[in-house]
Amino acid sequence: MNTPKTIFQKIADKEIPAKLVHEDALCVAFHDVAPQAPIHILIVPRQLIVRVGEAQASDQALLGHLLRVAGQVARQQGLAKGFRLVINHGPDGGESVPHLHVHLLGGRALGWPPG
Ligand code: AMP
Repeated sequence: MNTPKTIFQKIADKEIPAKLVHEDALCVAFHDVAPQAPIHILIVPRQLIVRVGEAQASDQALLGHLLRVAGQVARQQGLAKGFRLVINHGPDGGESVPHLHVHLLGGRALGWPPG
């Protein structure tokens, strides 16, 4: 039986709409539907990795690609004063979608420590 697609796989496959800002053979990036900062973009691999702590050695290049794309998108979005990348893992980490994604947050000064 085929595993049902995650919501992010459906976005990557253009089955549900999203405000895409980047796509390539390995990942897509789109605006978060519930932004937590003036700029809040998700960078998502097309291939399903459920969460970062479950990534395999074979995912290493893809994980690096996501971070490089996040930096490119931050530049495109004009975040010269800085930005934050976040990956939530599991319930205590605040994960709500079981398909690894990098949050790119910026456009205001971000507090530390995070909530
Ligand atoms: P996380 O809580 O780290 O798993 O992040 C999931 C993120 O996905 C949240 O910030 C949601 O607002 C966002 N999200 C959920 N559904 C959509 C969607 N259809 N389009 C864009 N962002 C979404």
